[in-house]
Amino acid sequence: MTRISILGSTGSIGTQALDLVSRHPDRYQVTALTAYAQADRLFEQVRRFRPQMAGLVKPIDPADIPQDLSFCHFEMGEKALHTAATLETDQVLVSIVGIAGLKSVMDALDAGQQVLLANKEALVTGGHLVMDKAKAIGKPILPVDSEHSAIFQCLQAAGPNRPVRLLLTASGGPFRNWPLEKMEKATCQEALQHPNWSMGAKITIDSASMFNKALEIMEARWLFDMTEDRIRVLIHPQSVVHSAVEFEDGAVIAQMGVPDMRVPIGYAMSFPGRLESGARPLDLFSTGPLTFEESDPVRFPALRLGRECLRAGGNACTILNGANEAANEAFRENRIPFGGITRTVEETLQRLGTGPADTLEDIFEADRQARLCASDIIAEAKKKS
Ligand code: NDP
Ligand code: MG
Repeated sequence: MTRISILGSTGSIGTQALDLVSRHPDRYQVTALTAYAQADRLFEQVRRFRPQMAGLVKPIDPADIPQDLSFCHFEMGEKALHTAATLETDQVLVSIVGIAGLKSVMDALDAGQQVLLANKEALVTGGHLVMDKAKAIGKPILPVDSEHSAIFQCLQAAGPNRPVRLLLTASGGPFRNWPLEKMEKATCQEALQHPNWSMGAKITIDSASMFNKALEIMEARWLFDMTEDRIRVLIHPQSVVHSAVEFEDGAVIAQMGVPDMRVPIGYAMSFPGRLESGARPLDLFSTGPLTFEESDPVRFPALRLGRECLRAGGNACTILNGANEAANEAFRENRIPFGGITRTVEETLQRLGTGPADTLEDIFEADRQARLCASDIIAEAKKKS
């Protein structure tokens, strides 16, 4: 029996991880589950998977916990995340969204846990601290993000050879072919129509703006210790090749499959083995041609901004991430147009410059400054319009 704790169990990744658990009740047992505010959904999961502990970050009245769940220890607030991350178990899947995941990843590593990582923002903001800690405890981070899982799978065939380049694929999102003027006015509904993947709202908007791919270059930089100039992005609208690695002899190894997150989640859960995941088999006869193109730097400046931040070092990636989280939310709340997301991030980076990111405190402070600055920029833009 493998014991697993899932932080962010009510989200898109969390529920798919639980789907895998329910497909393999003989192999997995749930230790802890956490949600932010979806109490009813969490209660249902507790009823079904019977964890020892469950946490809700947004507190509710303990009297509102259903009587039949008394076998489970409930905690409320931020401390619930700490308990869930550190409770003795075999695997901790961090599938919280946003920089909120960084603290939990560090808590889990401090407790010597094996981390399965969906929360890319933890590596974007605290990549050096996370990777150093994982190395120190001798438990490498197992990636869940599909591109990084693909690269990780390809590297299993690398032996002692280091790749010369990572080829990170991207679907291009719903606006891949939209002219700039049309993108500027795109609605949230339109941005949420991802052509291939079904995901949480924040990452779906990030996919439309391409900030998701900027964050993924940063994630790959830390996971695979590669400088940004060795990480290429290929727009691949069919989402069949999930990413690839290139070696010095010219050989390229790619990982393919249908776009179903249960494959990379299951790989992290069963590594170095594999798990029946419920995903359809890939039928290469029906996929049609597989195409690859460059991303348009004019319509999608996010990749350039991401690369500039990686080269600048320090807290630059944290500032990009914080400004993007604030702008992404403002767009979802209809406070800025789609084009305002990139403008807000770029302007925040210009106003704040770069500072140190040596400690978790430095990183959380940079995040706070980035959000404040982005909010000012959003308010100023609203006044002007
Ligand atoms: P969702 O928004 O669907 O789910 C987020 C989960 O985290 C929910 O359980 C939510 O609880 C909880 N949560 C939200 N805010 C906080 C907070 N401040 N503190 C603690 N818990 C919180 O996100 P996704 O599942 O789509 O994404 C999760 C992570 O995985 C992201 O970092 C994303 O980039 C990454 N990822 C996701 C992919 C996908 O296919 N979805 C693919 C690759 C990476 P509640 O439900 O109560 O709000
Ligand atoms: Mg991805």
